[in-house]
Amino acid sequence: MNARSERRRVGSHTPTSGGLARAALPYAEAAASEVVQVYVSNSRGWALPAGDPAQDALFRDGCGERGLPVFIHASLLVNLGSPTPATVTRSAETLAHALRRGRAIGAEGVVFHAGSAVDAGHAEAALRQVRESLLPLLDETAAVGGPMLLVEPSAGGGRSLASRVEHLGPYLDAVDRHPMLGVCFDTCHAWAAGHDLAAEGGMTATLDTLVATVGADRLRLVHANDSKDLCGSTRDRHENIGKGSIGEPAFAELMRHPATAGVPVLVETPTEKHVGHAADIAALKRLHPRPAGRGRPAS
Ligand SMILES: [Zn+2]
Repeated sequence: MNARSERRRVGSHTPTSGGLARAALPYAEAAASEVVQVYVSNSRGWALPAGDPAQDALFRDGCGERGLPVFIHASLLVNLGSPTPATVTRSAETLAHALRRGRAIGAEGVVFHAGSAVDAGHAEAALRQVRESLLPLLDETAAVGGPMLLVEPSAGGGRSLASRVEHLGPYLDAVDRHPMLGVCFDTCHAWAAGHDLAAEGGMTATLDTLVATVGADRLRLVHANDSKDLCGSTRDRHENIGKGSIGEPAFAELMRHPATAGVPVLVETPTEKHVGHAADIAALKRLHPRPAGRGRPAS
């Protein structure tokens, strides 16, 4: 393996208000992002905007020139496990829209939350809904060469379909381990779901379990977020890297683990303009292991 393929690109969620290229490209530059994630619809709404072809082209070309991989985060309302049929339909339509938009802007992946059965009696039906909704989308995006869909385990609670990394096994099985369904690992969610990432070796053990559950090459994106809450709280309040209850040593383990080699890592942390993100991106870059035999050791 060479150093280039092992490098973890570090970036942030990136605002787009005012125009995809007009807003996101200067932001990525100011934050020194090496990877960007954007919303292509309101994060808390169901409206599915068409996008502006001129901004799409400028953004796609701008990211291409800068070598920035692009990810889309689907609306937070998406829940394929919902007991409400209209919500399942809208969720599938939202993912189809995000995949179309992803093709237009050159995205590698569309992240969506694993979802929740909401009611105790609905758990089995919920995974059937995941299968029925996702399989056609996965086949379709495979036929046109991407983007991938990336399932993100949640912070837990509320009959969630996947919060601990072991839950990804049944989730992937529900779609016959389709090659176009990847995984996005969020550190704050895993911590909230009870993985003790702050213990020495805790992040390493969690990533080992993730790989044992989903296999190699399934992890395609990391959301690196510290937490304002305690382990197992099921609360999802992000904090800046090293400023929260997870702490910097866990993120050093994250950046060293073989499972994250070559996988983009991005923050979704509190920020004033780009300043908080720039600091978190710089912190994660400092924790990145140096390629063997090159440069001075990190001080
Ligand atoms: Zn996340």
